[in-house]
Amino acid sequence: MVKKTKYIFVTGGVTSSLGKGIIGASLAKLLQAQGYRVTIQKLDPYINVDPGTLNPYEHGECYVTADGAETDLDLGHYERFLNVPTSQANNVTTGRIYQSVIEKERRGEFLGKTVQVVPHITDEIKDRIQILGNSGDYDIVITEIGGTVGDIESLPYIEAVRQLRWDLGEHNGIVIHLTLVPYLSAAGELKTKPTQHSVKTLMESGIQADVLVCRTEHDLPVELRKKLALFCNVREEAVIQSIDASTIYDVPNLMLQQGLDKVVLKKLDLPSVEPEMTKWNQFLKKLKNPKTEVTIGLIGKYVELQDSYKSILESFIHAGAENEVKVNLESIHSEYLNDDNIKLKLSHLDGILVAPGFGERGIEGKIVAVRYVRENNMPFFGICLGMQMAVIEFARHVLHIPDADSTEMNPNTKNPVIDLMEEQKSITDKGGTMRLGAWDCDLKLGSKVSEIYKAKTIKERHRHRYEFNSDYKEQIEAAGMLATGLNPDTGLVEIIEIPTHPFFVGVQYHPEYSSTVANPHPLFVAFVKAALKFKNNK
Ligand code: GLN
Repeated sequence: MVKKTKYIFVTGGVTSSLGKGIIGASLAKLLQAQGYRVTIQKLDPYINVDPGTLNPYEHGECYVTADGAETDLDLGHYERFLNVPTSQANNVTTGRIYQSVIEKERRGEFLGKTVQVVPHITDEIKDRIQILGNSGDYDIVITEIGGTVGDIESLPYIEAVRQLRWDLGEHNGIVIHLTLVPYLSAAGELKTKPTQHSVKTLMESGIQADVLVCRTEHDLPVELRKKLALFCNVREEAVIQSIDASTIYDVPNLMLQQGLDKVVLKKLDLPSVEPEMTKWNQFLKKLKNPKTEVTIGLIGKYVELQDSYKSILESFIHAGAENEVKVNLESIHSEYLNDDNIKLKLSHLDGILVAPGFGERGIEGKIVAVRYVRENNMPFFGICLGMQMAVIEFARHVLHIPDADSTEMNPNTKNPVIDLMEEQKSITDKGGTMRLGAWDCDLKLGSKVSEIYKAKTIKERHRHRYEFNSDYKEQIEAAGMLATGLNPDTGLVEIIEIPTHPFFVGVQYHPEYSSTVANPHPLFVAFVKAALKFKNNK
């Protein structure tokens, strides 16, 4: 094991969306596969304390860790690649940094002094970076700095990295800079100038990049690598190309072929061995050689955006590979679903997943979709809001309670089958106040879920304010929808299923947050299997 934790900082230049998170996760995978204990951290320069209050249109999905932190979706990639849990310490925002410095100021910790960006904010950033390293749990910490070099809001982070590199000493902290090498089709050429400028911008802040990872749509020829090395003060072997891949799960191998892991370990003065990627490559083999395919409808209201349901999409990739089935996901906008078009929109599918969400928009369409699949024996998987919609649909059409509703959508309903949780009733603040993180859930013996999980008690991650109203439990169960997962302490209903239906499962928690390449989530695996069965029986 490494005596003193080493740090790798990942910065980005030229544009956003270059895939820093995937490069960080891929490098971490390669280091982990050589026996190093690695973790990844994301620093986000925005002023929100966490992304929990952001609309998915802003930054995509909000990812929830087992310890209940609402975090950036890149943490999902870290967990999916490494199969190691992340925590609150793995995601820090400017809002959190300032909040903590201001609280210290109020407590009098800087008594007599002027509190400033340098050193107070930068010291706080440096502390947050080192919390993970100082835990003794990791040999290497990879810290990804969100945003693009040169942004006003990134400056304190870049300055903190500059100082920290100096504090840590040689071979203990290196910088990987990710840039774009665009292809100008009119000129038929790849262009290095934006990268040169971006490296210079970084140098203006006192940081020389050690490694360049260049995002490109075409192979970088040797002369171009030489040119980049010459102009950017890096060794030729430290110019790595990151070419568009057909799946993000190919990126670790692409980085391995380019020797990113070797260059990095050499700079950190650590030994490198051949990474042990057997299991990873078995997964890739299954992913790329499906025996058949299924089509699943993803019913939500942010379906036009790739990032809004990131963890769900990735969970289907893991579950598909596990079943050796290609899962085609068809995004269906719930706002446009109604009784007249539902058959047309759903009848060709092999199953539907009704997505999590908040607020009224698109709700009735979700209920119409649940009714269709319940009545037509098509596999159904509801997550969080999706589960709540299944309960409402069942109450309305099976129990004949036409005004059954959730108090989230209809605060005055006489039949709140979904209601605000007791502990939520006194809460007015919106940030970080939902029921969050991993909680125990006891599974009913003989239920479908206990068979799927092969366990008596499970622990899954939550993010919600409303719950199944237990006043209706007896009625609902008598009519055939069973509560098969309960919180052992509060009795909260966490899972519902209809045993007479081939696959009708709704969960109050978010299984998608804990599906990884090494451990595909059993519920997704079972759902894909059920969809395949449904397809074969058509
Ligand atoms: N809006 C619902 C609640 O707060 C569902 C939340 C979700 O789907 N994450 O309970």
